[in-house]
Amino acid sequence: IAAVPQSEVAMSRVYNFSAGPSCLPLEALEEAARELVEYGASGQSVMEMSHRTKDFEAIIGETEALTRQLLGVPDSYKVLFLQGGASQQFAAVPLNLTARGKAAYVETGVWAKKAAEEAARYTQAGTIASSKDKTYSYIPSVPAVADDAYDYLHITLNNTIMGTKWRELPACGNVPLVADASSCILSEPLDVAKFALIYAGAQKNLGPAGVTLVIIRDDMLARAPLAACPIMLAYKTHAENGSMYNTPPCYPIYMMGKVLKWVQKNGGAEGMKKRNTQKAALLYDYLDASDFYQATARKDSRSLMNIPFVPREEDAQNAEALTKTFVAQAAKAGLVNLAGHRLVGGMRASLYNAMDIDGVKALIAFMDDFAKANRQVNHV
Ligand code: PMP
Repeated sequence: IAAVPQSEVAMSRVYNFSAGPSCLPLEALEEAARELVEYGASGQSVMEMSHRTKDFEAIIGETEALTRQLLGVPDSYKVLFLQGGASQQFAAVPLNLTARGKAAYVETGVWAKKAAEEAARYTQAGTIASSKDKTYSYIPSVPAVADDAYDYLHITLNNTIMGTKWRELPACGNVPLVADASSCILSEPLDVAKFALIYAGAQKNLGPAGVTLVIIRDDMLARAPLAACPIMLAYKTHAENGSMYNTPPCYPIYMMGKVLKWVQKNGGAEGMKKRNTQKAALLYDYLDASDFYQATARKDSRSLMNIPFVPREEDAQNAEALTKTFVAQAAKAGLVNLAGHRLVGGMRASLYNAMDIDGVKALIAFMDDFAKANRQVNHV
């Protein structure tokens, strides 16, 4: 049912609603395909290239320049391309930013909790607000934080599994704000100057898995890492060496550059916001009007990127069976990866930047057919 844009090199592409790694702009993939075996006049693939070459320096330089331009990164911040995923940042943050030994965390979901648990190995990581009482379906209000009370305050800007996002940042005075922006980076404009540190795994909005973006304010780099901090986890190590202390994830950095060029061509962060707002509104409006499906995140906290939903069905076994059938039939129709996270079940559509509005329309058409075909089952 889905008229998915096809490519000169592949004719069976699908609409991929995965939470990450996720779909990438077809243009970026095709350009990379053309350059795969020989990049420019280099006579080699970027995968084969030494990172200490002029060609690769130009690639990483351009990826950084685009990151700075598209996210409006002030000059007082360093942009780093690291490995280890966002999960490694859960440790790097406390290892680098601990001064007096107290940090504040807001528990808005599974990833936020993991970040706090990792931090607790190195510092006193207190949870100052949580939405666990309602299965993380909303963003909690955060009590006022006294100046200098904590080394930093950590939030998860978009909660991939529960489908919530911060609309307004917590008031934290002069306490440095640290954000995991893995699942919303560059989905809309972000005022980088409000943060001391932002990190994001690339595999949702920026490129393939393998590179992690870190944007860190210079005064945070001036903090001495804890003695236990491995050299490879110290931000200084990478900041002082232009992300080339050791071999960087060359190919993911190159792909990220291609994705960023596509973002630039499509209106930058503002363009993405427009595109993403339209897509999300289509699906949320459909869900809110439906007597068959129900969105699970609270309206005031809804994510633009990840939209979890469940059948409106009281009987848990019926609901689970319907969900399984939905996911399997959708995949047959070329709409893949619609299962919710294994920890929460249900269904989830991730609508990252590269997902086209036609993909959302195809999804809604499928959902409507599925609801019609299964309504009786639902209401017996
Ligand atoms: N934080 C968030 C918000 C995520 O969505 C994810 C992964 N889906 C992670 C952290 C973990 O990222 P990684 O797999 O890159 O370690």
